[in-house]
Amino acid sequence: MFACQTCGKSFSPARPRWRCDCGGMLDWTSETKLHPEVWAGQYPDMWRYQESLPVIHSAHIVSLGEGFTPLTEMTLDSSQITIKQDYLFPTGSFKDRGASVLVSKMKEWGITHCVEDSSGNAGSAIAAYCARAGIRCDIYVPASASPAKLEQIKAYGAQLVAVNGSREDTACAAFKAAESSFYASHVWHPLFMQGTKTAAFECWEQLDGTAPDIVILPVGNGSLLLGVALGFRELKKTGAINRLPRLIAVQAEQVSPVFAAFHQTGGQICNRTCASGIAVAHPRRLQQIVRELRECSGMVIKVDENAILDAKHFAARQGIYVELSAAAALAGARQVEHMLSADETAILFLTGHGLK
Ligand SMILES: *Cc1c(COP(=O)(O)O)cnc(C)c1O
Ligand SMILES: [Zn+2]
Repeated sequence: MFACQTCGKSFSPARPRWRCDCGGMLDWTSETKLHPEVWAGQYPDMWRYQESLPVIHSAHIVSLGEGFTPLTEMTLDSSQITIKQDYLFPTGSFKDRGASVLVSKMKEWGITHCVEDSSGNAGSAIAAYCARAGIRCDIYVPASASPAKLEQIKAYGAQLVAVNGSREDTACAAFKAAESSFYASHVWHPLFMQGTKTAAFECWEQLDGTAPDIVILPVGNGSLLLGVALGFRELKKTGAINRLPRLIAVQAEQVSPVFAAFHQTGGQICNRTCASGIAVAHPRRLQQIVRELRECSGMVIKVDENAILDAKHFAARQGIYVELSAAAALAGARQVEHMLSADETAILFLTGHGLK
């Protein structure tokens, strides 16, 4: 079921929907149905968890074999950390998790046209899976976005709609267009987080049926953090784990609204950081992110521009080529390295490929 965060009304998933009639944001509130004992026998992609995903008929699954990204070790300044290589995806970022589930459901609903706004990875992911599904999509982008970033979206056959103004103006334009189309939004649509939650299941399987103690990840709109939190909560409900990992959210110092809300301080919130994937000044699900962090005794840290740029090189010197938004999380891990004890398992999410 979909449930409105504002008025509490719920809706059946039988018909397409991306928000409440009152304009409120929706959550997905289905019963958790997990049978981890059968997972190991399934094909190693994220659809091995289909029983917990909202797509009814396998024939509607729109997949490029995404997910089940490898864990591996990397060296921080004086210790080792386990990285989840979520930059290894068909379009080059973890957003394929959400796009695969959301576009599959759109196919199940018979949707033939959608809109989304993004200048980067979410746009590429939605465009690729829509291409795969034969769904037309319009991706709204800031007119100022770099042509290189738009090339991938265009290549998938999406219609680019350039909007003059800020990233927020772009979201507004897509939002308006969605009144006569379907908003395949990685921010608004709760089914996107149903896709990102599979990352938690994978970590649990890859750590031989245990949860990590700590998960470090970058946060912009929170689609990764909220999904990962959801996944671990479902595992806990099933009894597969008995406590939630502590989530450490990493933000760019110059765009750190989650830090400001978590610490109830005014923050420096502009739109500019080299880590464009997390340059989100006003995350729509801000309160949800903060609640999730408090529930797992998590924390938020900020990293400055130099630390982000440096982390990108630091990773590359170990053969790991990631984009700056992913490097930001690594910069965060380096900052809290002294807090990570050797007998705890910490997982660092690397979210986007450096070839982007
Ligand atoms: C989108 C993105 C993020 C941030 O994810 P949110 O869901 O917006 O918090 C981080 N890294 C990369 C590479 C991204 O594409
Ligand atoms: Zn409502």
